[in-house]
Amino acid sequence: MNIKQFIRPNIIALKPYSSAREEFTGKAEVYLDANENPFQNGYNRYPDPYQKELKQKIAAIKKVSPEHIFLGNGSDEAIDLLIRIFCEPAKDQILILPPTYGMYQVSAAINNVECIKVPLSTDFQLDVDGILKKSTEKTKILFICSPNNPTGNCFEEADIFHLMENFKGIVVIDEAYSDFAQTESWSQKIQDYPNLVVLQTFSKAWGLAGIRLGMAFTNPTILHYLNKVKPPYNINQLSQEKALENLNNEFQFHLELIGIKKERERLLKQLSQLDLVEKIFPSDANFILAKVKNPDQIYDVLLQKGIIVRNRSTVYGCEGCLRFTVGTPKENETLIQALQNITSTIVA
Ligand SMILES: *Cc1c(COP(=O)(O)O)cnc(C)c1O
Repeated sequence: MNIKQFIRPNIIALKPYSSAREEFTGKAEVYLDANENPFQNGYNRYPDPYQKELKQKIAAIKKVSPEHIFLGNGSDEAIDLLIRIFCEPAKDQILILPPTYGMYQVSAAINNVECIKVPLSTDFQLDVDGILKKSTEKTKILFICSPNNPTGNCFEEADIFHLMENFKGIVVIDEAYSDFAQTESWSQKIQDYPNLVVLQTFSKAWGLAGIRLGMAFTNPTILHYLNKVKPPYNINQLSQEKALENLNNEFQFHLELIGIKKERERLLKQLSQLDLVEKIFPSDANFILAKVKNPDQIYDVLLQKGIIVRNRSTVYGCEGCLRFTVGTPKENETLIQALQNITSTIVA
């Protein structure tokens, strides 16, 4: 598959901005090239535009070579850049699979790119035939979120393989929640599928939503264009340092991950014992989607008690559902107790 055929001609022709840090990359005595303030305070210099040290560390942990890693200001930046690289405004389309993450559609709308939809099946799996039938030569990117937000489940592997092999465009697999799942990351398949981009993030399991750092794993061709269109210094110095610090403390990461997964199972069990819960969907993520009686009313009562959950009850395919993020044991206990109180009062 020739990937270049999917890229917008203006992006192929683009001459990117060449930053001072790019034109000279060695070590020097005197830096008078970037109009920085010369007085050292730890942050007076521009950061590494390609985050080499950070990528080395990520490469070792993720088992992906640094030449296959792009870092964005959140994975939301990677989503936006991908749409801008592949989709001609007012002409091309992206394809999404609702109910799913809201940013794909928003990013497409900002770029004046049409967003077409093929809903998931009633058991929240991929409608592979529907997806391939609905795609045309204008459909440049297919966004697959697995584990999916807000449903929480992973999609069948065979279906994803089939789509990577048969969809005539770019397949983006958003793995924001893959740390919480049992399955192997699709990042291990980027060498076999030239149209594959895998997204991950530091915002969920790594506990760093505040530093805005997302990853894209893909082949050097797509990576070249991501680097070409990104803002030159898209990952700031503070974020690069903080990410390195946390990556060097993998023990803490695994400790928290085990804790969150354990709490997820406990929460699943306790939610399933409540009268007001009608159905719980299995979760490979750090949240649980549950269909409840009177979702708006329950949402409001929780809100009044200072407990904020996500009301998904009007979202297509999630009618009547609330989404609960797995918190600390104490937070989850507070939630369960509040729901037990509601059960014994309003719903009864
Ligand atoms: C939370 C989330 C992200 C994370 O985006 P960042 O910009 O990296 O914080 C991406 N995709 C999905 C599906 C998410 O739920």
